[in-house]
Amino acid sequence: MRRAIGLSVRLNTVISRVGSARMAIRAASSSAVPPGSSTAAVHADALADVDWMMTTDKDVSPPISLSTTYTCPEEGSSGHIYSRISNPTRDRAELLLGAIESTPTEPAHAVLYASGLAATFGVLARLLPRRVAISGGYHGTHLVLSQLQRISGGAHGASVPLPVPDEVASALRPGDLIWLETPRNPDCHVADVSAYVAAARAVGGIHVVVDATFAPPPLQRPLTLGADVVMHSTTKYLAGHSDAIGGALCVSDAALATALKADRTALGATPGSLEPWLLMRSLPVDGSDAAHPLRGLVKSVAHPSLPSDPAHEIARRQMSGGYGGCFALELSTEAAAKALPKALLLFRDATSLGGVESLIEWRRKYDQKISPLLLRCSVGLEEPEHLRADLQRAILEVSR
Ligand code: PLP
Repeated sequence: MRRAIGLSVRLNTVISRVGSARMAIRAASSSAVPPGSSTAAVHADALADVDWMMTTDKDVSPPISLSTTYTCPEEGSSGHIYSRISNPTRDRAELLLGAIESTPTEPAHAVLYASGLAATFGVLARLLPRRVAISGGYHGTHLVLSQLQRISGGAHGASVPLPVPDEVASALRPGDLIWLETPRNPDCHVADVSAYVAAARAVGGIHVVVDATFAPPPLQRPLTLGADVVMHSTTKYLAGHSDAIGGALCVSDAALATALKADRTALGATPGSLEPWLLMRSLPVDGSDAAHPLRGLVKSVAHPSLPSDPAHEIARRQMSGGYGGCFALELSTEAAAKALPKALLLFRDATSLGGVESLIEWRRKYDQKISPLLLRCSVGLEEPEHLRADLQRAILEVSR
């Protein structure tokens, strides 16, 4: 009995140490993963202070939860109940898309739908505009407006021509909504979001919704221009592989996001698990391609792109499309090399290469012929400067 108590005390100590280490990593990660960056697109979910069900911090790629129902949470505690309401895979995809649509000054919350048109209906059903000022664009949006009019007996959703921003004050009234599809389908006309937001605010009580399907982040971020809601057909660029129908609404207002989710639960426009999971696979975006030299306590760096590399000339001739995303570096001591993978936040200490997330490995662990100073790095799609900063910080830390 005493032995059992001793074991359980030790186990609790280990668990609380692991827990506080995780909290420390997550606290440190908030500065390492700026909202809206390519780095956030790769890591915001894994480093968020959320315990994703049926996953561990060890998963490099997120798992998929297909369950439609969950063991009832303890009374007074939160947890998933039924998948139409919430589900770990969808929550995780929403957190990731929210982080991508966010900027350091403008947070965003994403709500996913079964299709772009379900998202369109979701926002119109919540804001219930008397009239919608809209100029052409995707024909399906007009079908949604007709449905809203039919359901509301003509009280909501009548479309009126979109005035130019200077004429918003004379043409529109509080309770109307401006729907901007920009760039517009199919003629790629661009609407001036800031001008419409300013005109709508001058009148007051007019919401501005932007269908940003043609240009998702990082190409544009209408929330930072003052739009109330950004809508995406994630079916297009965001999922990007023509294999997942879906839609999303992104908003800065957390209360509005909660209300949209409640409506979605009631209307049943929730996507299943597969599409949000496929969306997550696609969300990491390639940001800047600026190159950064590695500095610090590094003995050598090997990559065919470096003119100092003995095979650089051959590589230049035969690798016409680029030099590949793996490089090897040697630190000056074995102890530092061995410690580096665990000291990094953005490179995962995992074997394999070629994924969207950066990985690092002390190869000696598996192959005694390899130098004990050597680390193999596979560079993912995070912002290069975030990876560089992470490497420099960790190299200094382990070399101390
Ligand atoms: N908005 C735009 C601009 C579109 O092009 C589309 C579809 O082509 C939609 C909305 C509707 O999206 P979904 O097909 O995902 O319902």
